[in-house]
Amino acid sequence: MTTTGTRVLVLNAGSSSVKYQLIDMLDGARLASGLVERIGEVSGRLLHLPLTGEPRESVRRFADHDGALRAVADELAADLMGLDSPELAAIGHRVVHGGMRFTRPTLINDAVVAEIRRLIPVAPLHNPANITGIEVARSMRPDLPQVAVFDTAFHATLPEYAARYAIDRKTADEHRVRRYGFHGTSHQYVSRATARLLGRDPAELNVIVLHLGNGASASAVAGGVCVETSMGLTPLEGLVMGTRSGDVDPGLVFHLHRVGGLSIDQIDDLLNRRSGLLGLCGDNDMREVVRRAQGGDEDAGLAFDSYVHRIRRYLGGYYAVLGRVDAVAFTAGVGENSAEVRAAVCANLEELGISVEPELNAMRSRQARVISPTYGRVTVAVVPTDEELEIAQQTFALVHEV
Ligand code: ADP
Repeated sequence: MTTTGTRVLVLNAGSSSVKYQLIDMLDGARLASGLVERIGEVSGRLLHLPLTGEPRESVRRFADHDGALRAVADELAADLMGLDSPELAAIGHRVVHGGMRFTRPTLINDAVVAEIRRLIPVAPLHNPANITGIEVARSMRPDLPQVAVFDTAFHATLPEYAARYAIDRKTADEHRVRRYGFHGTSHQYVSRATARLLGRDPAELNVIVLHLGNGASASAVAGGVCVETSMGLTPLEGLVMGTRSGDVDPGLVFHLHRVGGLSIDQIDDLLNRRSGLLGLCGDNDMREVVRRAQGGDEDAGLAFDSYVHRIRRYLGGYYAVLGRVDAVAFTAGVGENSAEVRAAVCANLEELGISVEPELNAMRSRQARVISPTYGRVTVAVVPTDEELEIAQQTFALVHEV
């Protein structure tokens, strides 16, 4: 494909928001970034952050994604970086669910959009918004290469025995039930960045990545290949999260329905939006949970301990899955910022070769860094994630490959 541009616009369209970054692939510079939030509500907000110059905020109604994306395009155009600029090589779209079909970044055409649409039943909250973002962007620049980068793709290498739930195969296949995993772009980026930090080839490194943000997931990456991850058919499985329960006995769904009289939608709402840290203590921000726990608040203490305990169960499990662990990488909002969580996750694991050096752990930095002592058999690191850069790189690479 002939393109001389060096810039990629990364779009992440959610149900009521659009986040974007314009990245120059020559040096990774963010020429502009921003978000539109509360799309469809009476009062929405656009925040545009150019690399140079003042941030620009606009509070008004954005009726739909079309209006929101056009407003983003206007902001970029005001900085002479509009969608029609020749420097723009491609648009990279974050798409949450790629199912079994999309295991690599994919050049978007009508058939690809139709296939992403076909996956809506397994990703009802995310794929519709992703598709809207793609459609609006394509209507604005039909000639420009646009690439879908899937959150599930990095996990497509899970062995069948890890990807399947132990349920009737025919029923599972009929409804496309299996463990897909999410946050794949982050796990991929962070596992590679960890190898870079250690000066090692990703192909020779076994890494456990702990992506602890609002949503949270763990993955086991063997020689650059993902072999286990904690999220499943949906992003509900696995770790305790901000508002999601993570693992529960599926029998509690029947119990709450039959005995508790809750509808399926109410249980969905309970497990996805009123559980996790929020459900246990009323706060879903780890800063607040830690502050309260340190002040002696028992509910917050319990929430913190449950959160950490679940991570340690996965850490131990993935240790056994990998056989040999070279590095544990903490990333995303909590993983990058909470020294308390990192210390608690790694406490008393010297037998496994895992420990953190308190002074290194306490240091605040935006850089990837090692926090384990030099004698540690396993390197423990804090590795800031950068999903947008990963999407941009995959998009740019594909456009130049075709
Ligand atoms: P998202 O999943 O929305 O991308 P992030 O990765 O940005 O989320 O993580 C957001 C979460 O990170 C917040 O809800 C908060 O709990 C946590 N967080 C952010 N800063 C800190 C901090 N300094 N200490 C502890 N937790 C933090």
